[in-house]
Amino acid sequence: MMAYVSVPNYARSIPQRYALIAAKCRACGAVNIPRGVNCRRCGKTLEYEPLKLSGKGKIYSFTVISRGGSPPEFSTQQNLVGAYPVAVVELNEGPRIVAQMTDCKADELRIGLDVESTFRRIYEDDSMIRYGIKFRPARPPSST
Ligand SMILES: [Zn+2]
Repeated sequence: MMAYVSVPNYARSIPQRYALIAAKCRACGAVNIPRGVNCRRCGKTLEYEPLKLSGKGKIYSFTVISRGGSPPEFSTQQNLVGAYPVAVVELNEGPRIVAQMTDCKADELRIGLDVESTFRRIYEDDSMIRYGIKFRPARPPSST
């Protein structure tokens, strides 16, 4: 269930996560992220149709990354900004992806919270700027 969070899968999934493009299996219709060789549901060699994801979903689980033990991709940023929240987001289309949370405090997060993706600068390191998908709490359009 948590296979998407393992480091090898995590690294392999980076381009798909940033583009929010998934693979819809032609055999069974399952939505696959990352686009592996075999469908995660039916196990057939994946012949897929690209599927643009809505970027909306709910928090499945979350953690706050503090110094030590973060995925390699985040270690540079971690050194720059310290602790920050990371969530496993279950997208409306079904797949779960790992992403940083933004526009919220760690104590606002809870399982089941509606979230939406936002394209943000992740960090700036010397001359390199990294961009990627982050998630933020979905704000109702007419909340009072
Ligand atoms: Zn399938």
